[in-house]
Amino acid sequence: MGSGELYGLGDEILRRLRGRFRIDEGEFAALKAGRSGDPFKVLVATIISQNTNERNTFLALERLEKEVGLEPPRIVAAGASRVEEAIRVAGLQRQKAAAIVEVSRLLLREYGGDLRRLLSEGEERVREVLGSVRGIGEKTVDVLLALSGYPVVPVDTHVRRVARRLGLARGSGYRAVREALHRVFREEARLEAHLLLIKLGREVCKARGPRCRECPLRDLCPSASGGQP
Ligand code: SF4
Repeated sequence: MGSGELYGLGDEILRRLRGRFRIDEGEFAALKAGRSGDPFKVLVATIISQNTNERNTFLALERLEKEVGLEPPRIVAAGASRVEEAIRVAGLQRQKAAAIVEVSRLLLREYGGDLRRLLSEGEERVREVLGSVRGIGEKTVDVLLALSGYPVVPVDTHVRRVARRLGLARGSGYRAVREALHRVFREEARLEAHLLLIKLGREVCKARGPRCRECPLRDLCPSASGGQP
């Protein structure tokens, strides 16, 4: 199948998902953080959001902003234990605080504390630099890239599951799923595709007991009958 044909499928999937779901930024911590226009806030929100829900992510981010500040110099000056204490509600605070402090140090050292400067160096450079920080995975970098205007579909647990059930991605490795989704969704629609596939995964195509009968994609989905509750 050529990419033109796959983009047609992606367009149809998005048309149906748009008809069913509304993207509320209150349900996506990184998206809400992105409204500030500050990519560093998006990065910190995404690190905090690992293995926790949006509510706890918001609480942790707010507390970190109030008690420490959301700028690399403040975070480095405060140190890991104060960051850890501020984000405790989100869990895994030790690893997350270490990552937040390390990336703050790196940005101060290499980019004058300005993540926008790194972002202006292009997708591959962003992946290389941030990927070197322990505790910052590919999904975290992709969320930052997507919310900074790069044409990327970040793959979280919902996106991976839905993509595989829909037959859009065969492999399960992070990059294999992402590249498969890039063949289906046009560049300008990739952030929206990420958000809508998460909504589908959270509300309909659940890990246990997908609700195929109420799924807007059921006639397109090779897993539909097997997933019928
Ligand atoms: S039809 Fe079922 S398995 Fe397929 S995407 Fe919808 S809920 Fe998931």
